[in-house]
Amino acid sequence: MLRGLTPTGQLCLACGLCCDGTLFDGVQLERGDSARKLTALGLPVVTYRGHAPVSRFPQPCAALCADRTCRLYADRPKQCRTFECKLFKQTVAGEIELAAALRLATKTRRLGDKARRLLRRLGDHEDEMSLGERFHRMDDRLRADPSDPAKLALFADLSLVIHRLKLLAHERFYTRAEKTSLAE
Ligand code: SF4
Ligand code: SF4
Repeated sequence: MLRGLTPTGQLCLACGLCCDGTLFDGVQLERGDSARKLTALGLPVVTYRGHAPVSRFPQPCAALCADRTCRLYADRPKQCRTFECKLFKQTVAGEIELAAALRLATKTRRLGDKARRLLRRLGDHEDEMSLGERFHRMDDRLRADPSDPAKLALFADLSLVIHRLKLLAHERFYTRAEKTSLAE
């Protein structure tokens, strides 16, 4: 979520995994973020009332452009300004070369794309939902109706892809106790 013309900015522009619904289901607003302003800017912010009201908007983010830039870069909320994935931190620290980081981001994106293709073949075309939500929903559906062997075979392939994606996400992207899309 950190963009710019720096080498690590190049990495984010080639990646976008923390905005496109692969790593996260949504973005939670924090103190100082204006739900009203972000809504006016086109983000579908929903506020959940309770002891401590929580406002969030879903991913894939409505502000993510096709070229992986953020349409609301100057106005993006705090979580977007401050989140740095493990790969980003390692690249900044010089622990991994930019070329290797770019390869890893590309490999992870391809796995996400493969998972989305498999979901479409299973009849799920809801590209506006996060990958994790779509996977868990498909899991529930097929547990409720396991009558189609072809679908079960496709789902086995999908599960394998999601498993590989989870491993990569936990090893190379998530930093600590984030609320992730690819949780168990
Ligand atoms: S997941 Fe990391 S490298 Fe990718 S866009 Fe987000 S901060 Fe940048
Ligand atoms: S507002 Fe921008 S930085 Fe934040 S999730 Fe959306 S596209 Fe990413």
